[in-house]
Amino acid sequence: DPQLNQNYTFENFIEGDCNRLARSAGYAVAGKPGGTSFNPLMIYGGVGLGKTHLAQAIGNEIKRTLTDKLVLYVSCEKFTQQFVDALKNNNINDFVNFYQAMDVLIMDDVHNFAGKEKTQDIFFHIFNHLHQSGKQLIITSDKAPKDLSGLEERLLSRFKWGLSADLQIPDLETRMAILKKKMYSDGIELPGEVIEYVAHNIDNNVRELEGAMVSLLAQSTLNKKEIDLNLAKSMLKNFIKNSSKEISMEYIQKLVCEYFEVPIEMVKSKTRKREIVQARQISMYLAKLHTKTSLKSIGAFFGGRDHSTVIYACQTVDDLIDTDKKFKGYVADIQKKLKMS
Ligand code: ADP
Ligand code: MG
Repeated sequence: DPQLNQNYTFENFIEGDCNRLARSAGYAVAGKPGGTSFNPLMIYGGVGLGKTHLAQAIGNEIKRTLTDKLVLYVSCEKFTQQFVDALKNNNINDFVNFYQAMDVLIMDDVHNFAGKEKTQDIFFHIFNHLHQSGKQLIITSDKAPKDLSGLEERLLSRFKWGLSADLQIPDLETRMAILKKKMYSDGIELPGEVIEYVAHNIDNNVRELEGAMVSLLAQSTLNKKEIDLNLAKSMLKNFIKNSSKEISMEYIQKLVCEYFEVPIEMVKSKTRKREIVQARQISMYLAKLHTKTSLKSIGAFFGGRDHSTVIYACQTVDDLIDTDKKFKGYVADIQKKLKMS
């Protein structure tokens, strides 16, 4: 089927907090099209966050498991074009009948219906017919139904009948998983620190994340070079807009705790265990150095302590850096990781 891209499967769609609801609703719909309360299933989210991929994964899964179902994927633009042609050629009936014969209709990017009243009208009728016959509708959009402007109220109210689930920007771990998956499926390996660097720095959407990866792989093939971190940094200069991005206390806490292998919530606790105290003091020190947060807020963040505790922590760390070579090495390591972000 030329409409569906075979690479857009559930298998290839990495799960994370950013997409869990949409993904599992999509999976439920794929198992029982028209037979769940998720009808229509509306998937919404910003550019490059996986709407088309997920919507097509549902279609592909249905075609794979329920082979007798007629599944059609169409973008809103293409639907509009076909409608305009049908008007011109006087075969609106064929156009409508074709769409009304589907068991599953996937309509991508419905925000593009904005301002197109006649196309919306015809889609409204097709929608009603399919819905009444227990057929499945899957719709994607760049905004939640309530925020879609330029669409007729009666169409919007239909979109609200089923389930609306959003796709958000994946967190760091999910971004790394997406990159790894992509890397393995392309049969090329990049060093872990390169993956980490890309995932840290490209955090607006998945399409750009993949774009950066593709660009790295292409350049390495062309230059016949292994890609190490430094090479990756120079290759990705154009992708990474501001490298002096703000560093958060959450991130510092996470890095420090990972580094010392202590549970992340412990640094905020009252415990005086040596290793925890060390992680806590280094976190405070780095927060003072790398964030614009006040001493008071730093203290509050790390377990409701006051600003004098933060001052004491920073002095302690400074002293240890001067006197303890091993300790100095720890802090330097963590700072290196921090600056990769
Ligand atoms: P949208 O339609 O929301 O603009 P796409 O579905 O075109 O986004 O996704 C952009 C790219 O990102 C595609 O190559 C898609 O395969 C990939 N992608 C998005 N989300 C995921 C995910 N969770 N796991 C794997 N790949 C993803
Ligand atoms: Mg899309």
